[in-house]
Amino acid sequence: MQSIHDFKIGLEDYADNGTENEFPVLERCLECNCVAQGNLHRNGYYWRYGINEKGEAFHIPICRIRCLVCKVNISFLPSFLIPYYQHTLYTIVDRVRQFLEENKVNGYRQQLAQHVKRFCETIHWTHSFFVDVGHQLGLSKDMKKEAQKYMKMIHDIGVSPFYRRSWGHLSSYFMGKLILPYLRREKNYDSPT
Ligand SMILES: [Zn+2]
Repeated sequence: MQSIHDFKIGLEDYADNGTENEFPVLERCLECNCVAQGNLHRNGYYWRYGINEKGEAFHIPICRIRCLVCKVNISFLPSFLIPYYQHTLYTIVDRVRQFLEENKVNGYRQQLAQHVKRFCETIHWTHSFFVDVGHQLGLSKDMKKEAQKYMKMIHDIGVSPFYRRSWGHLSSYFMGKLILPYLRREKNYDSPT
């Protein structure tokens, strides 16, 4: 299973620190809730890329932990990244926002189109998150208007707080592959093999 962790630093510093980052220490297994001591073991790292807003790529380690009781692997993705995406959270959201505001967006046009598409495809999920946290909202069929509305709400909360708070909502995450069936419990998604 993948978990996100706020390291309180950006991609560049995280890359600099490499395996010396301050990785989280769990008290209990996130899956079976057994106590960590004697059961949760560090299980090395896997490596992936992260790309910042300037298009610079960094090869970074993702810390893994294995539970000897339930056998699950837990990896701690830094909260500036989204599973399966190489560009940082902020880069993706900012580019989609620029597009929705009809500003010119440089570079990676095809990728931008995919990100916009995913943002729109998952707008029900985003809507559902905001309703869950107490907003009273409708969802019209005017996709562009809705996309702009939710983009603004995401910025009002803050991109990073939004991402972290919505993590796990309906067993998914922001920009994640969705949606049906909503309540299918996806274990091990994006876990490296
Ligand atoms: Zn466990």
